[in-house]
Amino acid sequence: MTLTRLDKPVQFLKGVGPRRAESLQRMGILTARDLLYHVPRRYDDASTITPIALARVGMDVTVIGEVRSKGILPTRRGLRIFQAVIQDDSGMVTCSWPGQPWVERNVRKGDRILVTGPVRFFHGRQIQPREYTLLSRASAPPGAPATPAAPATPPDPAGTIFATYPASEDVPQWVFRRLFDLNLDWLLDQIRAEDHLPATDRGALGLIELSAALRDLHRPRTLAHVQTARRRLAFDELFFLQLLQARVRHDATRERPGIVHTRTNRLIRALHSSLPFRLTGAQARVLQEIYADMTSARRMNRMLQGDVGAGKTLVALFAMLLAVEGGRQAALMAPTEILAEQHARRIRDFLGDLPCTLEILVGSATGRRREEARARVASGEATLVVGTHALIQEGVEFRALGLVVVDEQHRFGVRQRMALSERDPRPDTLLMSATPIPRSLAMTLHGELDMSTIDEFPPGRQPVTTRIAAPEDRAAVFQEVNRRLAAGRQAYLVYPAIEESEKTDLRAAEAEFERLRAEDFAGRELALMHGRLPAEEKDRIMRAFQRGEIDVLVATTVIEVGIDVPNATAMVIENAERFGLAQLHQLRGRIGRGDEGGVCVVIPGGEGETTTARLAAFAGTSDGFEIAREDLRIRGQGDFFGAEQHGRGTELKFADIIEHEDLIGPARDRARGMIDADPQLAGAPHQLVRNHLDRRYGDRAKLFGVG
Ligand code: ADP
Ligand code: MG
Repeated sequence: MTLTRLDKPVQFLKGVGPRRAESLQRMGILTARDLLYHVPRRYDDASTITPIALARVGMDVTVIGEVRSKGILPTRRGLRIFQAVIQDDSGMVTCSWPGQPWVERNVRKGDRILVTGPVRFFHGRQIQPREYTLLSRASAPPGAPATPAAPATPPDPAGTIFATYPASEDVPQWVFRRLFDLNLDWLLDQIRAEDHLPATDRGALGLIELSAALRDLHRPRTLAHVQTARRRLAFDELFFLQLLQARVRHDATRERPGIVHTRTNRLIRALHSSLPFRLTGAQARVLQEIYADMTSARRMNRMLQGDVGAGKTLVALFAMLLAVEGGRQAALMAPTEILAEQHARRIRDFLGDLPCTLEILVGSATGRRREEARARVASGEATLVVGTHALIQEGVEFRALGLVVVDEQHRFGVRQRMALSERDPRPDTLLMSATPIPRSLAMTLHGELDMSTIDEFPPGRQPVTTRIAAPEDRAAVFQEVNRRLAAGRQAYLVYPAIEESEKTDLRAAEAEFERLRAEDFAGRELALMHGRLPAEEKDRIMRAFQRGEIDVLVATTVIEVGIDVPNATAMVIENAERFGLAQLHQLRGRIGRGDEGGVCVVIPGGEGETTTARLAAFAGTSDGFEIAREDLRIRGQGDFFGAEQHGRGTELKFADIIEHEDLIGPARDRARGMIDADPQLAGAPHQLVRNHLDRRYGDRAKLFGVG
């Protein structure tokens, strides 16, 4: 890695002595570059700043003023209140921090401060700051380097943007402002030589230079400049993330030989002609993508996403048959035994008398049965193998594994997903997900995978009617459910998950369950399933429900995703506001699998505008992708990145999946193109990129090897 002057320790900057350097280090600011990338967390522009004279009781204001006097006011109740009188050209006002006497230490007479908060009436007009920022210091505190006094006439706030930095007790706001006053121009001069995006590419994407972006982040002229600056840094962030993913993709698909499957159409055609329906356009399209991967020398590493019921299983089966036609075996791994059995059953139905032998490997099989099954897999007699984690256990050998399909891929760890592929030659992999996520998010989270999306349902699917009911209408809702039960149908009642630790929650659920059994659903078979039950017990209940021995399944935990009980046509979801939209949609996917339409009633626990709007959005559409977009909009991207447990350094500081959606595709294409051309990024034109990657992503960039 080539070091530049920006890699020197902060101590070498103006205004930073050994003590300050240590404090900065504690905030993660070690080098000059770290300081340059320490960007404001908020901006206030002139239009949001109120002249003090115009701050009226009841308003919520941001004002800027110079501290005229200050002091601590004890109250009769023993509360200590810090107060400061601040003044601007228009007038004076008292700011008051009840119960925070320590603010006294941080604010001095003559300081210029920015405060934000409500204006209250208390012996006159008072601001109670939620937040305050020291814009400039009256004079240096003891021990700190000398600082010039605040300018006699503070600059007119009109046309000025005030930036607020993430600060600490040791390195307060005003210090950052001062450090940038002293060093920013020099820092920007240095970064100018490090822009990895040539002018032509910047032009095509509407992006500004890196140094201009950093300048505008620290000293924006308008808030619009901040947006443009963030956009540039967002692109860099997305691009470097894609670069790491492109490299992982390269390793997964090209580094070692993949299998070139031979397509004879012997089985594929037979399955086609035995189907009582035609493939949907989306199924046909994703199958072409999969076939192309499988018959090429590049190894397939693909995700197949599509809503519950979109027809993924059938697509997977066609892919498996391609592997078998070419003389190999194909395995499908599901997260639970029930799901594995369901897959095996469906595949058997589809296969009819096609010449394929299907074996099932699950944990509950033991002894001789297990040994015999394993032997058939090892000999190659079994060409299709469906199972659970049992597939990746010690002692399971395949004769010639050519394709691995992983259902509900997010329920397996990376190691588990990979376990079946760690052999030579490496089998193709197809990861399936029934939780649709927006394309932009999918590309960002799973940039290392190729993506196939089924965005169309088979025709003739019965719709599920979704309704929002008020809590006081619960009895009527249960009556409606009872009518369906009387007609021989089954129902789900869903409650928010019980925390493992919440004994009281569990008791409440159990009490409610007893009440339902005695009152609303007297005479029916009810079962309670919750997260604290052992897995076998949950399995047992689920099977009984599948066989129709239970009328109403009261579930306090997420009902098995992917489970198919066509006779269950009603679902009531209590405290619906406690579920995410995507989760609600997943739940709803459990009903309406039969030939009769289902009904889903959501009952919110409380009111609230957002709750109502969210639930209305959910009730208003049955399109999983639309719901996923809405979910992303409401929850923000943080949740998604957290859930995926992405490594350090890959969290997005600038990029917003919604706002910068248009940059994601170009960032990915650029990254993939670069890695395809120069996998090690060793060539001279890629030095700037390579350097940045090493610096910013350290360990993860080791993927690129040394030198
Ligand atoms: P997923 O695995 O995506 O949840 P499935 O593969 O279980 O969806 O398909 C749901 C149902 O639709 C199954 O009963 C399947 O047989 C049926 N199906 C699949 N593809 C089609 C199609 N093209 N036309 C009609 N029905 C289909
Ligand atoms: Mg499925």
